[in-house]
Amino acid sequence: MNDSVSGQLPIYKRVFAVTALATSIAIATPNTAQAIPLRDLIFRGIQVIQLSNLSNKQERELGEQIHRNLQSQGMRLHQGRTLNRYITRIGQRLVDAGSRRRKVDYRFQVVDDSRVNAFATMGGRVYVTTGLINIADNEAQLASVISHEIGHIEKQHLVKQIRKTMVAQGLTTAITGSNRSQVANIGINLLVSRPQSRSDEYDADREGLRILRAANYATSAMPAFMRKLVSSRSTPTFLSTHPAVPDRVVRLENDIQSGPQNECDRNPDLISCGLSQSRYRQIVGRR
Ligand SMILES: [Zn+2]
Repeated sequence: MNDSVSGQLPIYKRVFAVTALATSIAIATPNTAQAIPLRDLIFRGIQVIQLSNLSNKQERELGEQIHRNLQSQGMRLHQGRTLNRYITRIGQRLVDAGSRRRKVDYRFQVVDDSRVNAFATMGGRVYVTTGLINIADNEAQLASVISHEIGHIEKQHLVKQIRKTMVAQGLTTAITGSNRSQVANIGINLLVSRPQSRSDEYDADREGLRILRAANYATSAMPAFMRKLVSSRSTPTFLSTHPAVPDRVVRLENDIQSGPQNECDRNPDLISCGLSQSRYRQIVGRR
């Protein structure tokens, strides 16, 4: 319904369709600079600037397009009110304390999926699976993943990755009504099938730690949860596409040691620090 290109194809076929289209356009582009009229070059230059200068509204619209495409490709949103409210409460606490993009309207959503995963797209869209909620020991661990994902949106990582990909494929990067769904699928392709850029991950960790600290959660939960996930029997999807987890743990622990403290460093037993396992289980249950 939302995607005139590939209807109800499963995600991998749709991604392939987009890539194939992109490749064919790239091949059709003359590869000698002299062959491209100057007017086209200038026009293309202007279009490239458009994706690099997305307004908040355009970014939100592209985030909504990605959301629609994910849903038509089979992503199931969790319908239970308790978990959705809980995730939104945690996310909003983090955003209120630490977001520097005040005009971004953040939305936190629970995906019904037993696999351990979390991801952010753009325009404030953050997703966490029921599998991840289930494996976390406490609220602070869950908040640490959400704050990492907020970090990606604060730094517009996916927008930049899409732009890079489109430029590399010789596509103009202006977003129009007719190609928005294709641009969204390039973003989905980047999320599902490519290893995340190492520097983006460090960047999101740093940003996430800053936000977690500002919201007065126990920052120790961030490296603790990563340790827990890599030592679990099957490495979660989102870590298999993320680089060098032990490296990230070391960096986080150093940053925690050397960075400013919050009230949980002085008094980790405060309920608001989010370390109580029993309280967490009462809210999320055992699923
Ligand atoms: Zn990440």
